[in-house]
Amino acid sequence: MMDADIKRLRRLYPRLWRHELAKMSDGWTKITEELMEALDEIQPPIPGEYGSPLFLMIQFGGGFALAFVSPNPGLGEWNNEKALALIEAVSVFNDAVVETCEICAGPSHSIVQEPGSNQQRLCERCSEQQLAKFEARSVQ
Ligand SMILES: [Zn+2]
Repeated sequence: MMDADIKRLRRLYPRLWRHELAKMSDGWTKITEELMEALDEIQPPIPGEYGSPLFLMIQFGGGFALAFVSPNPGLGEWNNEKALALIEAVSVFNDAVVETCEICAGPSHSIVQEPGSNQQRLCERCSEQQLAKFEARSVQ
């Protein structure tokens, strides 16, 4: 993630932000921000409370990312409708990941592993650029 994005997400969603997210691919920043925005709308932070009314965790790597969310029953007002809205917000993110290039955020439906690099979810254009970089390195 780019520094400006890290700063913005930390400022806008301090209760949802986790340090590890800084290592997430740039192409997935927008869908991560949309998820945080949706979660904040379902249950905004409680003024004066340090704790978060819900916990967000995103595991990522190797061309995949998966979000998990859990309401904090001790904070906020929870009901069936909000619980269902959380499940829907998480599945929007999880579905978006498998269609989004992790470099440019363009449409992607494939997992690519160029020689000498980690597996990534890339669009056709980024995949070709990665391959070109690899070939340029190999020639030297
Ligand atoms: Zn791309």
